[in-house]
Amino acid sequence: MPDKTCACPHCKCVLGADAVMKDGEGYCCQGCAEHHAHGEPCAAPTGCECAKSAKG
Ligand SMILES: [Zn+2]
Ligand SMILES: [Zn+2]
Ligand SMILES: [Zn+2]
Repeated sequence: MPDKTCACPHCKCVLGADAVMKDGEGYCCQGCAEHHAHGEPCAAPTGCECAKSAKG
């Protein structure tokens, strides 16, 4: 089974042990699972900027 990537539109992080399942989709972290509704940063250690992108 290939590695799944985060369902957050701007996030390309691979789902790991901390993956969060929500609405049948896998997210790499709680922030992504909540669509960064409260400005939560992505928990990825790669400097992923999906949280910024989500705010437009
Ligand atoms: Zn991300
Ligand atoms: Zn993510
Ligand atoms: Zn995200």
